[in-house]
Amino acid sequence: MDHFSLIDGAMHAEGVPLELIAATVGTPVYVYSRATLTRHARVFREGLAGVERAHFAYAIKANPNLAVLRVLADAGYGADVVSGGELARALAAGMRAEDVVFSGVGKTRAELQRALDAGIGQFNLELEEEGIALSGLAMAAGTRANATLRVNPDVDAGTHAKISTGKRENKFGVPIDQAIAIYGRLAVLPGLAMRGIAIHIGSQLFDLAPLEAAYRRIGELVAALRAAGHVIERVDLGGGLGVPYKEGDNPPSPADYGAMVARVTKGWNVMLMFEPGRVIAGNAGVLLTRVIWVKPGVVHPYVIVDAAMNDLARPALYDAWHDFAAVRPTGKRMVANIAGPVCESGDTFAMARDIDAVVEGDLAVFRTAGAYGATMASTYNSRALVPEVMVDGDKYAVVADRIEPETIIAAERLPEWLTA
Ligand SMILES: *Cc1c(COP(=O)(O)O)cnc(C)c1O
Repeated sequence: MDHFSLIDGAMHAEGVPLELIAATVGTPVYVYSRATLTRHARVFREGLAGVERAHFAYAIKANPNLAVLRVLADAGYGADVVSGGELARALAAGMRAEDVVFSGVGKTRAELQRALDAGIGQFNLELEEEGIALSGLAMAAGTRANATLRVNPDVDAGTHAKISTGKRENKFGVPIDQAIAIYGRLAVLPGLAMRGIAIHIGSQLFDLAPLEAAYRRIGELVAALRAAGHVIERVDLGGGLGVPYKEGDNPPSPADYGAMVARVTKGWNVMLMFEPGRVIAGNAGVLLTRVIWVKPGVVHPYVIVDAAMNDLARPALYDAWHDFAAVRPTGKRMVANIAGPVCESGDTFAMARDIDAVVEGDLAVFRTAGAYGATMASTYNSRALVPEVMVDGDKYAVVADRIEPETIIAAERLPEWLTA
């Protein structure tokens, strides 16, 4: 459920007409609903009410806007960060350092140092060498770093190849058959306090079976590590729960997921950690856009909108589907292709789609754009960096400015030897 619906014939975000946001902020623009974010955070937490102890770390990469992070911090969420930049955002948004988990296969020594200095709660180590480096940095700082070892369980999550992370050949985690040996070597390092195991097998998951298979393997690993004398206090189960993008999509609910987790982890006696991203932010945002032209096509007309692949990369990157809806639908329909202005055929949001009929100047939205939307935006084709707005009831605020090309050009330099 989200809070983008028709009131008196025009789409609103909560109580705010999208026409008002378009008129004052311009298009394209991302619009987020605070109530939807809060609701998703609550529903996810409630879904896991059946587990003993749980910690929730929102995966910032899904939507790192500071206002979004603040809403989730207020909902009791910490953060899963994958870069020094995301760490800075979590702290800037008021999240507590001890509620931050640092994931990622390529943390630099400088990033590890910054996270140590900040006093974050947990490092999810992706390889033995990283643990050795972190131990050295922690010793030099006179401290010990809480860490888990990320394990690659070798399961096929059944999602798009580019967002699959738990197969043997993927770059993430250590192979599960080497985990006991590596864990043993890390556990004796003086700068590390090894707390347990982490896992994350992929994103936009529609099937609980691979998750369950992976979690069962982790359960066996926890037992084996304990048998080897290790104290296992935490298991980080990652994120990945899918969201519906189109009619008929039927991903497992947080309650379905929670029931599976409670069943599989029964008796583990650990703090379970969760890193949801998409399921929190996905349906909490739309990309609001204006139709520039309706161009006659050979087979179907092209609806050319002012949003493009640089604003919303998912269709070009993953062939992803985003529902398209008119802000003031007339009830008429049309079959059309939807494309942006960027000079690539890849800048196409949909082909031969049955949509609300639109004409030049109309406003429309791409739905379910709250996750992996604005955060992936670029300025390709020297377009502006897309702005973001958050709505709360009948209030709204710009929570990220549109960065105009002039600002980006101002950060570029001509070397002396080109101007002499
Ligand atoms: C991307 C990512 C997540 C979040 O995935 P979602 O599919 O958005 O829930 C969680 N943990 C890690 C380590 C990730 O890389």
